[in-house]
Amino acid sequence: MDAKPLPKSDDGPVTGRPTVAVHKFTSCDGCQLAFLNLGDDLLTLAGLVDIRHFAEAGMVDPEAQVDIAFVEGSITTPDEYERIRRIRASSRFLVALGACATAGGLQALRNLNGLTQEWMAGIYATPAYIRTLETSTAISTHVKVDLELWGCPVNGRQVLGAVRALLFGVLPEREHDKVCLECKRERAVCVMVARGIPCMGPVTLSGCGALCPRFGRDCYACYGPAENANTAALGRRLAGLGLPPEAAAHRFHFINNGAPAFLEAGRRAAEGGFDDG
Ligand code: SF4
Ligand code: SF4
Repeated sequence: MDAKPLPKSDDGPVTGRPTVAVHKFTSCDGCQLAFLNLGDDLLTLAGLVDIRHFAEAGMVDPEAQVDIAFVEGSITTPDEYERIRRIRASSRFLVALGACATAGGLQALRNLNGLTQEWMAGIYATPAYIRTLETSTAISTHVKVDLELWGCPVNGRQVLGAVRALLFGVLPEREHDKVCLECKRERAVCVMVARGIPCMGPVTLSGCGALCPRFGRDCYACYGPAENANTAALGRRLAGLGLPPEAAAHRFHFINNGAPAFLEAGRRAAEGGFDDG
């Protein structure tokens, strides 16, 4: 694959060998590992692009001007609040990578109940040293994001597909389907229909290849809400399978609790369900 111009951004077309940075915010590093786990494809990619900053892989230049900036993690500290603005200003295309960057991640659970001193004292030996914001929020809450890749973590196929599309001068395809459709494509037996196991696949964005149902377990919605997700119908189905309201709420308020569709669905589930449709 030859390096080609990137799609035109507000700054005009990008030509030559595109420059790339991978930045980390509050996260577990799992999405950066999706890059590192590319194996031979990573070596090919390194020949097509100029990776300026990727601390986990050894390249460190956090202020570098680049064509594509991949951002992992959510905004949870005053320093991150400032840093994401600098990264946006020095990048042509900004790609939010994974559940923390697209919806605030698991750590956005703090947004539901407030960050209390009691919690801090219960977790950290010396909470006085913690400098944090009250909330954990998605990158798009703070700056313009050109592409969101959902998942916890994203998979290498998604990352490579996005880079490949950009190198060929087109914007990457966005996922639109639900995990249930991937089950059908992969010929996975439905765990909800066949075994009565509560599954979040009917409301979850595709992209993982129905990884969990293919191994006989339910989807827990790590790819976030699909387009037009019928959360009310699934909420009623979860109740029909015997899930108490609090447990159903936890299903929505899990990894992608900060995504508006799941945030609202979890609240409705906790307040008594979806009987009114
Ligand atoms: S196993 Fe889950 S994701 Fe797969 S078809 Fe059934 S409900 Fe949908
Ligand atoms: S099946 Fe669901 S929980 Fe499993 S990887 Fe896919 S989106 Fe994530």
